[in-house]
Amino acid sequence: MQLLDGKKTSHEIKQEIAEKVRTIKAEGAKVPHLAAILVGHDGASETYVASKVKDCEEVGFTSTLLRFEADITEEALLKAVEDINDDVDIDGLIVQLPLPKHISVQKVTDRIKAEKDVDGFHPINVGKMAKNLPAYIAATPYGIIQLIERYKVETSGKNCVVVGRSEIVGSPMSILMARNAYPGNATVTLCHSKTKDLNNIIKNADIIIAALGRPEFITGEMVKEGAVVIDVGITRVADETKKSGFALKGDVKFDEVAPKCSFITPVPGGVGPMTRASLLWNTLLAAQNVIYKS
Ligand code: NDP
Repeated sequence: MQLLDGKKTSHEIKQEIAEKVRTIKAEGAKVPHLAAILVGHDGASETYVASKVKDCEEVGFTSTLLRFEADITEEALLKAVEDINDDVDIDGLIVQLPLPKHISVQKVTDRIKAEKDVDGFHPINVGKMAKNLPAYIAATPYGIIQLIERYKVETSGKNCVVVGRSEIVGSPMSILMARNAYPGNATVTLCHSKTKDLNNIIKNADIIIAALGRPEFITGEMVKEGAVVIDVGITRVADETKKSGFALKGDVKFDEVAPKCSFITPVPGGVGPMTRASLLWNTLLAAQNVIYKS
């Protein structure tokens, strides 16, 4: 069994990005600039945004955090997005989700200029990704793709089962694994809560991508010998032995599943850090106008 070490790989990616920033600076060119919008004071969102700002500092990017109270109107938030769209110094914009209920996520996502949509949620980027055209790919699927690539995991002709069909993880992941490219060329089954006979489907998988948000759902007996297991899930589970009072659990029962695998991601230290590194990578692409150059 080999660990797909997201912590180590993301560190390498960050070093590569930092090196590129040093070159940009040496050439006197503009440093990549990421803007993040945070609405309200949700604890998890605060943590995520803080880590994104910290990541920017680490690689030498400029970052701007725009904070709004939870009672901001949809109209005012859309205006803030438009202002950033028009700001020539800002290369990439992310809006931290979830948003308060009175604001449409779809409207806000759609209002971000596709060229600055480094989260890859805009329909133009999703469509381009589905057509295998240059696009910003959502950070979590992109992180998984990069992990598979850097560990040279074989995907062609494999049976790949993706559990979970969310717009930000499962659905794009299934498209990427099925495309005619590497990583890809897998025969993909996309499962969700209405899927029948899930255990048998998983049992036949060469590659399992678990993104359902059910801690330790996938157990040893569900996985075949030699499978590649990518665990996207992160759920806080109460744990009195931890100082924080909780432990982070993946969707896979690691101790049981790992001995059967050829490759497996740990939680934490697998997909999570790769997601963070991929947002930086997308921001670098945005600053260099790689995706949308005519
Ligand atoms: P969502 O809640 O949006 O989607 C969950 C999906 O899993 C849905 O498609 C749902 O089906 C499916 N599902 C739920 N229960 C079952 C079940 N018992 N059997 C089969 N399918 C099931 O989650 P996300 O995609 O946003 O996130 C998934 C997990 O990944 C979470 O733990 C989240 O915290 C984590 N995550 C981790 C990231 C990282 O960087 N590591 C980034 C993003 C998410 P249906 O559509 O039918 O409801």
